[in-house]
Amino acid sequence: MRANLAAETASTLLKQLRRAVLCGQLLRVLSVQIATASRLQRLAGRHHFADQLAHVGVFHARFGGDLSRRHSLSARSLESRENRVALVRSPDFSRLTERAPFTSLLVEDDGDVEIGNVAPAPIERRALRVAARPLILKLERPIVARIATISDWPVILIDLFTNEGIVGRSYLEPYTAKAMKYIIAALEDFGELLEGHAVAPTEIFELTRKSLHFVGYQGLSMIAVSGLDMAAWDALAKAANLPLCVLLGGTVGPVKAYNSNGLWLSDPAQLGEEAARLIQEGGFAGLKIRLGRATADQDLRAIETVRAAVGPGVRLMADFNQGLDLAEALVRCQSVDGLGLDWIEEPIVYDNLDGYARLASQLKTPLQIGENFYGHRDLHRALQMKACDLVMPDFMRIGGVTGWLKSAAIAAAFGAPISTHLYPEVGAHVMRVSETSHWLEWQNWVNPILKQPYDVVDGMLHIPAVAGTGLDWDEAAIGLRN
Ligand SMILES: [Mg+2]
Repeated sequence: MRANLAAETASTLLKQLRRAVLCGQLLRVLSVQIATASRLQRLAGRHHFADQLAHVGVFHARFGGDLSRRHSLSARSLESRENRVALVRSPDFSRLTERAPFTSLLVEDDGDVEIGNVAPAPIERRALRVAARPLILKLERPIVARIATISDWPVILIDLFTNEGIVGRSYLEPYTAKAMKYIIAALEDFGELLEGHAVAPTEIFELTRKSLHFVGYQGLSMIAVSGLDMAAWDALAKAANLPLCVLLGGTVGPVKAYNSNGLWLSDPAQLGEEAARLIQEGGFAGLKIRLGRATADQDLRAIETVRAAVGPGVRLMADFNQGLDLAEALVRCQSVDGLGLDWIEEPIVYDNLDGYARLASQLKTPLQIGENFYGHRDLHRALQMKACDLVMPDFMRIGGVTGWLKSAAIAAAFGAPISTHLYPEVGAHVMRVSETSHWLEWQNWVNPILKQPYDVVDGMLHIPAVAGTGLDWDEAAIGLRN
């Protein structure tokens, strides 16, 4: 069968296709050339018979593994074309065609590749399914804080499948393995709620959030909403074939990061060597040290040891991980005030904003909070109460990318520098479009299951120039851990 690119022969193609399907003839694409795919892109938009073709069962699809192997194409180069090419496969596509408009068509018969270009109607990009998988990773350097010791790191992998064949990806890190079953149940419910809904992250954010309002907007509700939100933004950026930061109006570029991978509450005498290693892991110019040992003297020794090891040029952030009560904090924060720390983070329980306002009024060192803000209104309230000088929302709790964008605008209005908490792959993108962007927290805890972990060079995290956030799973590595 031959298909001409001219409009008049498109109708001929249509008739032939109808006949083929009626006769039960199987049409298959046997080979594809790169040049053919690029021609398709150029020709997109000329003809308008997508609706008619849908009747005979042409469906949008992505290149399959067989084609990938045959033509030695990388997965990425295939993926970048997945929303532009339709393959005629068989008459058994009525279910798919309902969901999957297409933009272009490749037809081949007897080894002769031809193109029918059919890219008229804008694609109605719709969510089909949400998959959420639990995983436990071993931390290379266990978390040792006053409130918890964690060596097993739970991760939920989220895949949002769309009718275009695009998969939006994100992950959540809920700290405790037991929490995963509740969050995964909520994500699966979201999948049912959203089936067939446009992949519009702002709408999805509101729909999912409101679906849980009877059990409250915060806590587990917001965590589940945030996970899906990040996957939806990834899917949208992939569909636009743009890195997320570009879709948001920015550019791909480096983001200033500090290394947050270590310096937990271990023996102060061992911290110098660890600090030197942490600097070398990416040429970092900033480190985070954890405080809250049994005595203030021990914390002071820890800071002195690290400072001696890394020199005066390295920025040091200090995190108490909510380990103090207010009375202790009033004394302990004073004891490290004036040591040149870039910030003092979460000395007391996260929701005591009155206590934070009191501390902030007494300290010269900037007070940093925000990883436990559940949504942008928490951030607004904290800044309004002068409970902190700096903010660092966590993507799992602030509402993903949507929640971050709302929060970054509020922080900018207050003139408050904004830093990220965990999720560096998503954080890097939004930091490129945040007016008061400050520091990105670098930690590599999910790197073992990422196909392409981000690079950190000279203390700067480098966003890969690929569509979406750049998150992709190393399924073999995941399989080994299940
Ligand atoms: Mg912290």
